[in-house]
Amino acid sequence: RVKQGGGNHLVFFSPEMDDEYRYKRQLSGALRHAMDENALELHYQPQCNAHSSKIIGFEALLRWHHPELGQVPPSRFIPIAEETGLINPLGEWVMRKACEEAVTWTNPLGIAVNLSAVQLQNLDLAQTVAGILDETGLAPERLELEITETALIHNASRSRKILTEIKALGVRIAMDDFGTGYSSLATLQNFPVDRIKIDQSFIARLMASEQAVAIVRAVINLGRDLKLEVIAEGVETEDQVAFLTANDCDAVQGYKFGHPRPIADYQTTVSGTAVAAQHRSIAGIGSN
Ligand code: C2E
Ligand code: MG
Ligand code: MG
Ligand code: MG
Repeated sequence: RVKQGGGNHLVFFSPEMDDEYRYKRQLSGALRHAMDENALELHYQPQCNAHSSKIIGFEALLRWHHPELGQVPPSRFIPIAEETGLINPLGEWVMRKACEEAVTWTNPLGIAVNLSAVQLQNLDLAQTVAGILDETGLAPERLELEITETALIHNASRSRKILTEIKALGVRIAMDDFGTGYSSLATLQNFPVDRIKIDQSFIARLMASEQAVAIVRAVINLGRDLKLEVIAEGVETEDQVAFLTANDCDAVQGYKFGHPRPIADYQTTVSGTAVAAQHRSIAGIGSN
């Protein structure tokens, strides 16, 4: 069978591809439905100062519980949302939700939101971000948008224009999964980046690979010289923490410091222990 593809290309579909196409359409439809029904959730993972271990912010990570499929991981549904264009309203939903949540915190901690390469092709993205900040009242400095290097090379000049507009709002930019994409070094020179996130694959190999050690050290030094903050992703062990602090990495994120969880699990951090305890005791007196 032959189908008319995008542009002038003829795309040949095998029955298997047809199945896959139908599967993707179905999953995308279910995802849209979940978004409309408010059935999606954000989990929050702490980002900590490497030296004090104090929480300095959170990364928002999207969670989807499908009624029949159960928990569907973002690695499965984000690419499909990107293919079908659903990522645009979905990404906007995530950003609005994260800002709405963060603005209620007593502690003005940072909030990082992932941005898809597809969103970075929208010339009105900065306007969308400005609108969300305006509606929610979140201070722009508290918001950080995480992008991957690969997202930037698609249409570099357009990406640079959009990121520059976003930076002008006072929002921070982080380079996610650093070291896994193309031309990492040129990217840092050409785009207005505030923070480097060392990809978790390097952290995972730290104790087993001299190459990983050399790469992580080099990225930390690079960050220092370029005056960019450096955060290590996927930190799971004490050994890794010891290495990272000894090498003066600024911040850490990973299961060692906290899993992505609903914000209620981090309530004492975002609102302060004393206040929460006081509320509980007052409620206790009232109900007895
Ligand atoms: P990412 O932005 O690099 O997020 C980090 C991923 O590593 C998360 O996976 C997180 O749960 C996981 N992680 C955190 N600490 C550890 C650790 O110590 N060990 C290990 N092995 N993993 C750890 P998750 O939540 O499954 O998300 C995967 C990817 O999906 C994200 O990678 C991001 O690229 C994408 N994603 C998630 N939420 C969104 C979203 O709202 N919008 C967009 N565009 N992408 C999203
Ligand atoms: Mg991220
Ligand atoms: Mg990452
Ligand atoms: Mg990733």
